[in-house]
Amino acid sequence: MSGPGRVFLVGAGPGDPGLMTARALELISRADVILHDRLIPASALDGARPEAELLYVGKQGGGASMPQEEIDRLLLARAREGRTVVRLKGGDPFVFGRGGEEALVLRAAGIEFEVVPGVTAGVAAAAYAGIPVTHRDRASAVALVTGHEDPGKPESAIDWPALAAFPGTLVFYMGVRQLGRIAERLVAGGRSPEEPAAVVERGTLPGQRTVLATLATLAARAEETQLRAPSITVVGPVATLGEELAWLGEPPLTGSTVAVTRARAQASGLAARLRELGATVLETPAIRIVPLPGEAPDLDRYDLLCLTSPNGVALLFERLAGTGRDARALAGTTVAAIGPGTARALREHGIVADVVPERFVAEGLVEALAEIPVRRILIARAREARDVLPDALRARGAEVDVLPLYETVAEALSDEERAAARAADYVTFTSSSTVRFFLDAVGELERDRPRLVSIGPVTSTTLRERGLEPDVEASEHDIDGLVAALLSDAGER
Ligand code: SAH
Repeated sequence: MSGPGRVFLVGAGPGDPGLMTARALELISRADVILHDRLIPASALDGARPEAELLYVGKQGGGASMPQEEIDRLLLARAREGRTVVRLKGGDPFVFGRGGEEALVLRAAGIEFEVVPGVTAGVAAAAYAGIPVTHRDRASAVALVTGHEDPGKPESAIDWPALAAFPGTLVFYMGVRQLGRIAERLVAGGRSPEEPAAVVERGTLPGQRTVLATLATLAARAEETQLRAPSITVVGPVATLGEELAWLGEPPLTGSTVAVTRARAQASGLAARLRELGATVLETPAIRIVPLPGEAPDLDRYDLLCLTSPNGVALLFERLAGTGRDARALAGTTVAAIGPGTARALREHGIVADVVPERFVAEGLVEALAEIPVRRILIARAREARDVLPDALRARGAEVDVLPLYETVAEALSDEERAAARAADYVTFTSSSTVRFFLDAVGELERDRPRLVSIGPVTSTTLRERGLEPDVEASEHDIDGLVAALLSDAGER
C-alpha cells in the first residue's frame, strides 16, 4: 500500500447547494471517505462515489454529538489506511468549525492536509437577508463572535465590554437561546438599546426567515417568532438595510395548496419539504399502515433479503427486536433496498444496503440483482404488492419466500378534508395504494381538478387505470424527485 492518504478539510457553505465551491464538489466526487456534519447542504453528498464511505459525525438533532476525540481518531485511522478523506463541514471549516483543532491533530500525526475554505454562514445568511456586513458609511469592520457560551458566566472567554465597544458589525454564530443575555451585555457595555439587530434563521435555505429588531427588542422578537437554530445574529447599523435590500423572492410554492396522500406516519417529511417551499399543505392521508402479526424470519436461511419500503424495514426490525435480536441477524445475508428511502431506513439500523438500483421500482431491483448469484431469497414487504420481483427472481431459478409485514388500509377522511383535497392545486401520489384509496375516498374529480403528481411509472399506470392522466411524473422515484418535479411544474405555470 502507498503511504497515508491525504485529508481535505472542506467547507460546504451555509446550505444553498449553489454556494458550494467547485473545489468542494470535485473533492466530494473523488473521496474514499467523507466525514460530515449535520449542517451541510442536503444534496452535498449526491456526487460522492457509490462506494465511498459516508460517516455522519455531527450532532443528532440537538442531542449528543460524537466526541471530538472520536472524530480525530476516525480521521487519522482512515488517512493511515491510505484513503482520500474529506472532512466536510458547514460554512467555512476554520470559522467555528473546529477545523483548526483537526488540522493540528493531523499535523501532529504527520498526515498531509489541505484546507478548502467555504462560504461562511455569518456573511452568507446576512447577504441572503439583504444585509451587507460592511458598508462604507455604516461599518468598516466586522467581528465574528460565538454566541455559544452563557454570557452570564464569570468564566466567559468573551470580553463583553470590548465587544460592546467594537467599532463595527458584530455577527454572532450559535446561541439563538442566549439572545437576551447577549443584548443585555452589549447594552451594559455601552451599545445603544436602539442599535439595529437582525436574526437570520436557516439562511440561504428554503424557509429562510429574517427578524429585524433592536438590541432592546431582540429577545422578545426572537421569542415571538420562535426562531431556532441554525441562526446568525447581526448587530449594527447595517442590520436595517435588510428592510431596503431584501432581495430573496417568496418561496416558489407560495400560494399553492398541495394535498399529501401518503400515510400520516410517513407524511411529515414530504409535508415539511413542501411547507418550506411555501406551499399550504393539506394532510389528507388516504392510507394507513397496519402491521401484521407474525414471527421474525430466520434470516440465516436466505442469501438475499429484499426490502421494498421504509415501513418494511421498520417492521422487520420490530419483529427481530421482539425476539431479542438486532441488526446482527442480517450479518450473513446480502441486503437489497428498492430505493434510497429504504436504504436510509436500513442505515438508521446500522445496515448499509449491498444493492440499491438506479431506478427505484421493482423492475430496477430485478436488473440490479441480475449479476448477483442467489439461491434463497426473502422479500419482506406489504401484503398486497405487485409480483414483479418474486416472479422475476423465481424465473431466474431462485427459491423465493415473501414475508408480508404490513397491510395498507383506507384512512377515513372527513367531508371537509375531502372537499379541501378536491379543491387543491396539486395532489401528490407516492404509491399505487395512495391513488386507489384516495380516489375511493374523494370520488370523482371535477373537470378543473387538481394537478396530479405521481412518483413514478407504476403509480402513473394506476392513475390511468382510473381514467386520470398524471400531470406530473417524477423522473427520480423518491420524495426528492417528486418535490423536484412538482417544483418544475409550478415554475412553468
Ligand atoms: N463553520 C460554520 C459555522 C459552524 S457553527 C460556518 O462557517 O458557517 C454553527 C453555527 O453556524 C450555527 O449555530 C449558526 O449560528 C450558524 N449557521 C450555520 N448555517 C447557518 C444557516 N444556514 N443560517 C444561519 N446560520 C447558520
